[in-house]
Amino acid sequence: MELPTPHSKTIAPKKSFSVEYPTSPQPTLGEDMLHYSHSKHPLAKVMLPELFTCAGCKEYGAGKRFTCKQCDFQLHEFCALSPPALKNHPLHGQHQLVLHPKPKTGGIVWPRCDVCGKATKGFTFRCSACSFQMHPCCAMLSGEMNFSTHSHSLKLLPPMMTSSSNTEPGFVCGECKRKRSGRLYGCTVCEYHIHAVCAKAMINGLQANGIKPPEKPNMLGTAARLASQVVIEFVGGLIEGLGEGFGQALIQNRGGRGRRRIE
Ligand SMILES: [Zn+2]
Ligand SMILES: [Zn+2]
Ligand SMILES: [Zn+2]
Ligand SMILES: [Zn+2]
Ligand SMILES: [Zn+2]
Ligand SMILES: [Zn+2]
Repeated sequence: MELPTPHSKTIAPKKSFSVEYPTSPQPTLGEDMLHYSHSKHPLAKVMLPELFTCAGCKEYGAGKRFTCKQCDFQLHEFCALSPPALKNHPLHGQHQLVLHPKPKTGGIVWPRCDVCGKATKGFTFRCSACSFQMHPCCAMLSGEMNFSTHSHSLKLLPPMMTSSSNTEPGFVCGECKRKRSGRLYGCTVCEYHIHAVCAKAMINGLQANGIKPPEKPNMLGTAARLASQVVIEFVGGLIEGLGEGFGQALIQNRGGRGRRRIE
């Protein structure tokens, strides 16, 4: 599958696969670029099939990427080419979204992406008017898309129909067959659904390179940070479907217990 080529001016072509970033000029394969997040060395655009962790958004990727020739630094193509702001984005058209290179920190729980429901640990598009935020990869998703795994086009369902609140017994994600948080795509023709987080694997190059998204959180920071993150992700999976207040309390309890156990 081709990654979108983000050099046109269109942001949201309906029904097409990609949301294209309005960036220019577009470096071509083999050309070097200097990125503001890694200004000491030039990056080269390459195509490698193996899994990597993007130094920008801290999410997984495979396939096309920008990689440093002198050290271990790699960026998703769409992270390297992310514009500083997005206007009229199909998933949050009412406000402008600004790219923040660093996530909000402070608590032990990473802020969650409003599209895929996963933690935002690096590059994040954040709304300056409301609390909406999403990964650069999720910003490549559109309101209506065609995926290679299904013959009909899929529409992003409204936020209240996220999988955590979806208790319909018949709901099965066509990709992972599991229950997960985050938003859902529903088929416009038949009873087929996939998670937005599963749709991401079709955009970040993982599916195209035959890689299943690893379930473990990315390696970053100290071991302690990693350990508490594991507990939070695990508990986060358990409390899906519960009210927010109750879930928060549970996270604090379990988080404390988990840290003690790991020490
Ligand atoms: Zn990235
Ligand atoms: Zn470098
Ligand atoms: Zn996301
Ligand atoms: Zn907003
Ligand atoms: Zn899924
Ligand atoms: Zn269908």
